[in-house]
Amino acid sequence: MNCGMQQSVREMGLCLALACGLGLDQAVEARPLKIVTSFVPAYCFAANAAGDLATVENLLPADVDPHDYQLAPRDLVKLGEADVVVVNGLSLEGWLNKAIESAGGRHFPRVVQLAGGLSAKELIYDADAPWAQHAEFHPAMESRFANPHLWLDPQLAEHAMTNICRALQEADPANAAAYARNTGAYVLRLQKLDEDIRAAAASFTRRDIVTDHNAFPYFARRYGLNVVGVVEEVDEVPPSPKQLARLERAMQAKRITVIFTSPPTPPREASQIASDLGITVATLNTIEIGPLKGSTYEDEMRQNLRVLETNLR
Ligand SMILES: [Zn+2]
Repeated sequence: MNCGMQQSVREMGLCLALACGLGLDQAVEARPLKIVTSFVPAYCFAANAAGDLATVENLLPADVDPHDYQLAPRDLVKLGEADVVVVNGLSLEGWLNKAIESAGGRHFPRVVQLAGGLSAKELIYDADAPWAQHAEFHPAMESRFANPHLWLDPQLAEHAMTNICRALQEADPANAAAYARNTGAYVLRLQKLDEDIRAAAASFTRRDIVTDHNAFPYFARRYGLNVVGVVEEVDEVPPSPKQLARLERAMQAKRITVIFTSPPTPPREASQIASDLGITVATLNTIEIGPLKGSTYEDEMRQNLRVLETNLR
C-alpha cells in the first residue's frame, strides 16, 4: 500500500495499523471501549472498573427510575454503538428484552448483569418475605421473581464488580491487567464500606424497619435487620386500605418510630402512616437515581448509614 500524503485520514489510520502489523479489525478496535449502563449503580461500578480505559454512558437520565423506564428510539442507537452493556438483571430492566428483539437477530452488544451468576441461595424472593404471607395476591409477587435490589448489599456489589471486570477483559483483552487493577482497588473500597456498615449495625438497638418499596431485603439480610413490611408491596402499586391498616398494626406491635422512604417521589401513603402513628419519615436512598459520577454509590451508601445510625441506635 502507498502511504502517500494524498490519502485520507481514515486511510492513513489503516495504513499506520498495517505498518504496525495490525489488521483492519484491530485498527478499528483500538478506540476506547464504549460502555453503556442502565442505572446509577451499574454506572458507578462500570466507571470504577473502566478507569480511563473506556467511555461510560448511562442510558437513563440521572433522575429516571429504572423500574418503569420506557425505551426510546435514541436508546437503540446508543445500545447499538456500545461494546458492553451493563445492567442489573432480575427483571429490573424489562425494556432490555425489547431492545434485543428490536435488533432482530443482528449484532447486539455484550450484556453483563450485576446479578449474573448469583445462586438461588443468594437471591431473595419477594413471596418468601414474612409480610408477604398476608399480602394481597398480585402476579408480580409470584415466587419466580427474585428481588432485584442486590446492589444495596456491598458484598453483592463486589460480585457485580467481578462480572463487569470479566466482561471488560473479554471485550478489551489488551487492557485486561488494568481492568483487574481498577476492579481490585474499588473492591477494597466496597470491603471497607461493608466493614463500616457491619460495625455500626452491631450497635443498633432497633432492627425492625419499614420502607416505601421492597428495596432493602439484601441489605437487611447482610446486616441483621428485619423488614417488618413495605408500603408498596408491588413497586408502583399503591397499597389498599386493608393493607395499610395491616402494616400500621404490625408497626405498632414492633414499636417502630420511623418509616424510610427513597427519592424522588415516595408514595404519599408513607407520610399518611407517619401522621397516623405519630412517627418520623427518614430518607433511605435506593440509589436507583442520582448523580452520574463514580463516587455516587459509596456516597449514598454512607449517607444511608448515617441515617440508620440516627434512627436505629
Ligand atoms: Zn426499587
